[in-house]
Amino acid sequence: MNYEISEKEFTLNIDLHQRLTLLAKEGDLEVADTKQVRANLEKTLAVLADTPYLKFGLEAVPGFNGLASLMVAVEVVADISPSICLSVETSTRVFGKILTQWGTPAIKEKMLPPLLAGKLIGALALSEESMNVENAPLTAGGAVNGDTAEISGKKQYVINAPVADWFAVAGVAEGKSAVFLVKAGTPGLTVGPRKNTPGFQGAAIADITLENCAIPADQILMIPDGQNMLQTLRMWENQVLIGASLGLMKTAFDGARNHAKTHRSGGKPVIAFQEVGFKLSDMLTLFQTSQLFAFRTAWTTENVPADAESLTLCAKVFCSESAEQVAGEAMRILGGAGYETGNPVERASRCVKFLQIAGTSTEIARVKIGDAALGLRN
Ligand SMILES: Cc1cc2nc3c(=O)[nH]c(=O)nc-3n(C[C@H](O)[C@H](O)[C@H](O)COP(=O)(O)OP(=O)(O)OC[C@H]3O[C@@H](n4cnc5c(N)ncnc54)[C@H](O)[C@@H]3O)c2cc1C
Repeated sequence: MNYEISEKEFTLNIDLHQRLTLLAKEGDLEVADTKQVRANLEKTLAVLADTPYLKFGLEAVPGFNGLASLMVAVEVVADISPSICLSVETSTRVFGKILTQWGTPAIKEKMLPPLLAGKLIGALALSEESMNVENAPLTAGGAVNGDTAEISGKKQYVINAPVADWFAVAGVAEGKSAVFLVKAGTPGLTVGPRKNTPGFQGAAIADITLENCAIPADQILMIPDGQNMLQTLRMWENQVLIGASLGLMKTAFDGARNHAKTHRSGGKPVIAFQEVGFKLSDMLTLFQTSQLFAFRTAWTTENVPADAESLTLCAKVFCSESAEQVAGEAMRILGGAGYETGNPVERASRCVKFLQIAGTSTEIARVKIGDAALGLRN
């Protein structure tokens, strides 16, 4: 394991920072209008496709270190636009992983090139009302009839749903775990109204309903025996959320440090008050520890898969809880300005709330980490 950021990673980060900052100046990447969300995603994906970024975790890129390189780069994307980060990562690192891990050769050949070229937006439709996030059997599913299958079910909170080209619907086929690939516009698929959320307002989120939605049978990806689909999907989501935590911490820390240096109170810059310096010191410690944890988890996921689940859960809890703490302290350093809507620190403080709920929630993760400590699971 080598935590040194390579020259290639450093150069990629500078390139991403410059190009995405330019995009954010041309038009608000956190805008709520759905048409604009799709346009923003297309523009950002075009930039990302021009770099190795979209390939990380999906295929080897010479000179880069897979998911570990992603963790270095995703911080830049989430710092500039948390919503773009959530949408792109859901499409690339979750929908894309479904294709690389479970796709047939024909599916991979058809769908991976446009995904990696930034011309396909995917969504994961997993959560169902009242399901236990990790363990309950899914109710979405359908009967395979020769060359076609008819899928029915309801899924909630699907990131990208109003703007997606393809949906990966997690469910059950012939009594076994399966992912149904459903193209947007397929008769029987209805995308509900856009959800209003306090954070990630530039990401389009909606429930979907499938009613006897007919898809070709070759769009059903059967999960091999011995693999736990729910657990695997949650781990991929957790990796996305760990990456987003880093970017949100960077936004909060940078905003607080800059404010502390430039804003004067009682005749001096607020950083001159020792308590403010202590806060910044604690925030930086949490941020840098989270970075190390994220890099180690990314490396372990690709190199020692047997240790990955527990470590990912620990990292997800630590990074997401740290992000909330760092954003909260940053708000306080900004004083009254921190409570005004529209500044990046305030935006980050709204987004971080989602990190503990999504993927494997902090509560469930703690139960699982405890079980692992008792030797009841890996
Ligand atoms: C903005 C947003 C975007 C989302 N994007 C997607 C998406 O793209 N695709 C998708 O499929 N889903 C998505 N989700 C759904 C998300 O994964 C679920 O909201 C999340 O899994 C929690 O499920 P729930 O809301 O039913 O809460 P519940 O499962 O009802 O949980 C409620 C509370 O109980 C606790 N709890 C539940 N079970 C246990 C347990 N066994 N042990 C200890 N505590 C427990 C939870 O931690 C939580 O505190 C999104 C949600 C939001 C808010």
